[in-house]
Amino acid sequence: MTKKLIAFDLDGTLAPSKSALPERMGEVLNRLLNNFMVCVISGGKFEQFQKQVLSSNKLKDAKLENLHLMPTCGTRYYVSKNKKWEVVYEENFTPRQKQKIITALNKGLDSLNLREKKVYGELIEDRLSQITLSVLGQDIVDVLGEKGIQIKEAWDPDNLKKEKLREFVAPLIPEFEVKVGGLTSIDVTKPGIDKAYGMKKLMDGLNLVKEDILFVGDRLSPGGNDYPVKEFGIDSIEINHWQETALVVETILAVI
Ligand SMILES: [Mg+2]
Repeated sequence: MTKKLIAFDLDGTLAPSKSALPERMGEVLNRLLNNFMVCVISGGKFEQFQKQVLSSNKLKDAKLENLHLMPTCGTRYYVSKNKKWEVVYEENFTPRQKQKIITALNKGLDSLNLREKKVYGELIEDRLSQITLSVLGQDIVDVLGEKGIQIKEAWDPDNLKKEKLREFVAPLIPEFEVKVGGLTSIDVTKPGIDKAYGMKKLMDGLNLVKEDILFVGDRLSPGGNDYPVKEFGIDSIEINHWQETALVVETILAVI
């Protein structure tokens, strides 16, 4: 195994959507951190990493200095120093940019009649370097659990509503990139921000080349949010659910 760093997507790869790291995954990640640098990269914000990853009991005694966290696709980068998480860099929107984006997203919801009556938590979340609209609210899975995931999956299975919304909003804010995010979400970022962007930033920061990295994700087909990493030329493994990720990690640990 010549890789130096193993990078993972979060939702659907290390844990079920917006859920905590399963115990088995915490265990294997702990072991992986003894031998490799590990990166977790996701469109979610840092607080989501705290909730889903850092809260794991299995990581309490882990070598966290080997863990590199890249929320919002690497527009923020965190490392652990003396047991505290520190920001290496952050690339945030200005207040004026945020306001313009939020106005455009609201206009899209109302003009296309996509505003839902029953929502859970905030609709538009300020992730500092990314603004995310979640049509059913950010907290639906926290509040409803498994049922929340089912409602999300049923809202727009063919992506037509999200695509319509994206097409409406994009010309209102042409200086930004408007993307379909998860099952019910639209993400707005500066142009060119995706997981490949995050990987490039990480390589610069750690003096790595593409060949040093192995990436594991659940959306590596064209159009998927992990695909840019593969397209960029980093060796990538596509898994279907977190149990397969655990197997991949166990296999890596077995051959070192
Ligand atoms: Mg995923």
